[in-house]
Amino acid sequence: MGWVKVDEILDVFLPPHCALCGQSIARRPLCAGCLADLPWLPPHRLPALQGFDRVRSALAYEYPVDRLIAEAKFGKQLAAARALGELLAMRLPAMFRPPDLVVPVPLHWRRQAERGFNQAEEIARGLCRQMGWRLAPGVCQRVRATPAQSTLSATARRTNLHAAFVARPLSQGLHVLVIDDVLTTGSTAEAVAGALRRAGAASLELWTVAHAL
Ligand SMILES: [Zn+2]
Repeated sequence: MGWVKVDEILDVFLPPHCALCGQSIARRPLCAGCLADLPWLPPHRLPALQGFDRVRSALAYEYPVDRLIAEAKFGKQLAAARALGELLAMRLPAMFRPPDLVVPVPLHWRRQAERGFNQAEEIARGLCRQMGWRLAPGVCQRVRATPAQSTLSATARRTNLHAAFVARPLSQGLHVLVIDDVLTTGSTAEAVAGALRRAGAASLELWTVAHAL
């Protein structure tokens, strides 16, 4: 996608601005004041999700995190999405083992074409750029478009998502980090975990920018 590359080039030449208040800053993604005011979650382990060894979220899904995520998702703000990835990198560096692959939760190709990009992939890109990790967006694909999840019950979501994702066979023993923007019920992430386990992932971790508590 040409305009993704343009955005990356602009990143290099434009001085960074706080993604929330807009003031010039020395270091992305936010100014010190906005950073301190974010609703950070204590780095406790979150409730277990099927298929994952660990699940973590950096922030509570409330203002201004909800605004940043909406800008990233619906405003086609690649810079905002990458800023979210940089926030993840700041908050969640302690791992029992660095990931071999970083896999964003995929969108169905049709939805990605409508939106122009996958926000989870751009968040993962920001994170990988900070950490020097390997982004592998092609490993897992969403092969079935599913109806809007928000209209379904938790049980119906699970059934609906079953077999919606497939992953390429993986080499043995890989530790895979899955990235998404918001954790709500976790049913989408669990479906992705199922596909990655079937593909041979040895261990799986999920990081999300926000947790809808
Ligand atoms: Zn600011």
